[in-house]
Amino acid sequence: MECRLTIKALSTKIAGMDKKTVLFAAIFLLLLAGCAAAWFVIGRADTGTEAVITVDGEVYKTVDLSKVKTAYDIEIDTEYGHNTVHVEPGAISVSEADCPDGICVRQGKISTGGVPIICMPHRLSIAISGGDIDA
Ligand SMILES: [Zn+2]
Repeated sequence: MECRLTIKALSTKIAGMDKKTVLFAAIFLLLLAGCAAAWFVIGRADTGTEAVITVDGEVYKTVDLSKVKTAYDIEIDTEYGHNTVHVEPGAISVSEADCPDGICVRQGKISTGGVPIICMPHRLSIAISGGDIDA
């Protein structure tokens, strides 16, 4: 009987201490998580998933792929020809083009800063800035 009481009292004491410790730990972890999340978001924005569409060496349009929620198309008509650029969350591609080689369409979608999509006949290029690979 006495033993049970002692255990009960002890466990209450531990529980009481734990609450405070847990609270501190929780606040600390929350702050840490918040910092990590902020750092992650800023870090991501910094490295970027921004697709830069250029025509004839000039920036035609920039699209932040990380902010794309629903897929859509960008029709690009220039003096060189027509390209339909398909934008989707985290990726970009040329879905249609009237260029003679059709390489840009065959290249498929890109999602990282690796090899850019290039349509030589139309002087069009789509490159994703940031990432691990330096241009
Ligand atoms: Zn092409």
